Amino acid sequence: MDILRTENMTKSFGGVVANNNLSIGIPEGKITALIGPNGSGKTTFINVVTGVHPITSGKVYFKDRDISGLDVNVISRMGIARTFQKIRLFENLSVIENVLVARKPFYKSGPISVVLNTPKFKREERDNREKALELLKLVGLEDKAYDSPTGMAYGLRRCLEIARALALEPQLLFLDEPAAGMTRDEFKVIMDLIIILKERGITTLLVEHTMDFIKAVADWVYVLNFGQVIAQGKFEEIERDPLVLKAYLGE
Ligand code: ADP
Repeated sequence: MDILRTENMTKSFGGVVANNNLSIGIPEGKITALIGPNGSGKTTFINVVTGVHPITSGKVYFKDRDISGLDVNVISRMGIARTFQKIRLFENLSVIENVLVARKPFYKSGPISVVLNTPKFKREERDNREKALELLKLVGLEDKAYDSPTGMAYGLRRCLEIARALALEPQLLFLDEPAAGMTRDEFKVIMDLIIILKERGITTLLVEHTMDFIKAVADWVYVLNFGQVIAQGKFEEIERDPLVLKAYLGE
């Protein structure tokens, strides 16, 4: 079953058709990769599906519910989380606080309970801290929980960004170039993490340029060029596809 599917999804920016009639299915519980040359429409796909950009035409369904045009916050609360190509962290907060902020939608206490620091609020705080620590452990940042993210190695900052996305307890996670700028060791951490997430039942859509990474983790690959799907299949099937080679080599 597809957890998310688009039907003839089109997104135009003025005269540029960034996504052109895309009908893409993301199978539940699997790792799907979206690849293609620069400017082929990969980030736009994530931005439209997650509600960052309004759709021009077509539909997006999440668990068979039409989510086209819904607000970005409504969509994230439904269980879709994402990371950005350019890492976004709160530099003035510690690592654990960065994760706690992302758990805000789960707090039930009203402002009065917070001000009075009621037992209910204290319990909620404790539970959220436990959850945040568990996530930091998962991404290998447990020992840095009280450090500032500023100045941390790029790969670790990327891991923190993923922990923040996971704080939303998503069913579907979009990772936009998670391995960009990473060392080989850092990228291995992310690769292992994505596989652990799959074992936990989280569906991942991965936009990535590192082919070794795609080959190692992706169950299914979509290849975009000029906003359209030019090939799809297992990595071994698409890597020798003449259309794919042509798109990458620009012949
Ligand atoms: P990719 O992620 O595959 O590199 P993008 O989705 O970023 O590709 O871009 C696809 C096309 O849409 C490009 O031609 C890009 O210039 C254009 N585009 C993307 N975002 C915007 C925007 N906010 N405004 C105008 N054009 C955009």
